[in-house]
Amino acid sequence: MMELYPWQKQAFERFIQLEQSERLPHALLLSGPPGSGKTEFAEYLTHYLMCQDSTKRPCFTCQHCSLVQSHAHPDYRRVGIEVDQKTKKEKKDISIAQIRELKSFAGLSQSGASYKVILITPADALNQSSSNSLLKLLEEPQGKTILLLVTHQVERLVATIRSRCQKFELPLPDHEVSIDWLTKNHQLDDAASWLKMSQGGPIAALAMAESYADSGLDYEQIISDCLGLMFNRGSRVIETAKSWKNYPLNLLLEWQLGLTRDLIRQTNGVAIGYFENQDRYDVLQKVSDRINLHKVTVLYEYLIKLKMRADVPLRPETFREELAHQWKHGQ
Ligand SMILES: [Zn+2]
Repeated sequence: MMELYPWQKQAFERFIQLEQSERLPHALLLSGPPGSGKTEFAEYLTHYLMCQDSTKRPCFTCQHCSLVQSHAHPDYRRVGIEVDQKTKKEKKDISIAQIRELKSFAGLSQSGASYKVILITPADALNQSSSNSLLKLLEEPQGKTILLLVTHQVERLVATIRSRCQKFELPLPDHEVSIDWLTKNHQLDDAASWLKMSQGGPIAALAMAESYADSGLDYEQIISDCLGLMFNRGSRVIETAKSWKNYPLNLLLEWQLGLTRDLIRQTNGVAIGYFENQDRYDVLQKVSDRINLHKVTVLYEYLIKLKMRADVPLRPETFREELAHQWKHGQ
């Protein structure tokens, strides 16, 4: 059963009020930082709108709830980035064909639920033509159809779409709330470090910690591999990249970003309390005389670029070799 995250309860109450006073807009733009649980919140709202239980809280057991859960409800459509059947890779954006299909869906009459719900996530993946097509849908709202658009990059949506949606912001929880949730609800050790690594998003922090736990990986080894590549002539790029083959790429990238930030902190004489790798402070201190600030900054910028997916290499092996190469040789 889905649960509402503790930091979303207020937003949910606000939504209920809108619905009960019949002031629910046709389109809601759910925005907030990555890892705050926006899509889960949108799914929760969908259950709420479709649930046939009288308490409507929602129940997760009625026929409507189970159909929504299995993405099979005839009054519900979820649109996202599709996988290309030929290349088996994710496409770049939401196509106009996907939005056109929604139009015929919106034109159909409801088949039993109180609402029809369209959930688009991530809405920033709409391109110019799919945005234009969606705009027509927003301009001619049909019956009790509710559109839920989810994004952490509101500015990437075209202005005309933004202006036709009611904004609903879902901020990150306070630090203490996140720590509390990760520690008590998920028994996560070292919640503060995971949170720091995921820039404060508790959902992202949990996902990262879980993929780490599942893989039985060695964080200290990565630090020593990276520093080895940077400072030891003997370290080899291909061998090191191969030894990283079981690491999820996002985790590998986050750790290395954290390490580069700490190397920059080290050269700037920042106090230990601000370091992400406080437990490896002694190792960082040992190399402090040899850090080339310019080289580390270039490396950091390169890693950020990878993270923004501007130029992610296609194959995971290439990605790992590229990372190791950058540590060894810089740009
Ligand atoms: Zn229900």
